[in-house]
Amino acid sequence: MGKIIAVANQKGGVGKTTSSVNLSACLAHLNKKILIVDIDPQGNSTSGVGINKADVSHCIYDVLVDDIEAENVCVQTDIDNLDIIPATIQLAGAEIELVSTISREVRLKKALDSIQDQYDYIIIDCPPSLGLLTINALTASDTVIIPVQCEYYALEGLSQLLNTIRLVQKHLNKELMIEGVLLTMLDARTNLGLQVIDEVKKYFQDKVYNTVIPRNIRLGEAPSHGQPIITYDSKSRGAEVYLDLAKEVIADG
Ligand code: ADP
Ligand code: MG
Repeated sequence: MGKIIAVANQKGGVGKTTSSVNLSACLAHLNKKILIVDIDPQGNSTSGVGINKADVSHCIYDVLVDDIEAENVCVQTDIDNLDIIPATIQLAGAEIELVSTISREVRLKKALDSIQDQYDYIIIDCPPSLGLLTINALTASDTVIIPVQCEYYALEGLSQLLNTIRLVQKHLNKELMIEGVLLTMLDARTNLGLQVIDEVKKYFQDKVYNTVIPRNIRLGEAPSHGQPIITYDSKSRGAEVYLDLAKEVIADG
């Protein structure tokens, strides 16, 4: 049975998509069978693995709102072992449309039940909000990875996220655990980044991954080529660190 991991933080631009795409591609590179589930209406992880959103006929919206089988919406990417359930801008309406549907918080969980055993890991790239889409992701997941950007207000907003996780644990998914806290976009030239690492480690202790993702130009470029870093530039520092992260995730079981 595959492990389902949500990548969540309601702040935008902290590295959720970059980490979802590159962790997934590195796990796939290490011979794990991977499914990315894109539940951000921006669809950045969809285009990030080379899927042209204009060519997508069915997306996660159809699964969540119209009960289309997840299997029928999965798309193979050009990367071995890596499939994706894509998102398009159509998903933007789902947050509101789901409000009035039956079992609105467990729709993603139910949809993934039927395909979970086909994958080693299912990675869910969440939108920058704590609305119904993120609730669906947390309800469907075994664990959650929280990317935290190494910047001044790093911890701000995390109490809301942790509160949401607690509410989901209480009412919807007792088993949900924090997989790990991932420090992203470290600028090694400043002391600030190192201070933030200390602060986050004080708060989350051994939940923080040893792997810290630095700012890396190639990581920023890869999405515009529709490629994860491991195929875009396998020799880059970005590829190295996301491979390290994938190994940590595998070691955690
Ligand atoms: P989120 O999904 O949380 O909104 P993204 O992963 O899309 O965040 O990252 C925001 C922006 O920063 C994107 O343009 C992305 O390419 C860039 N980015 C993310 N991580 C890095 C990094 N380690 N080095 C350089 N650029 C990065
Ligand atoms: Mg994103």
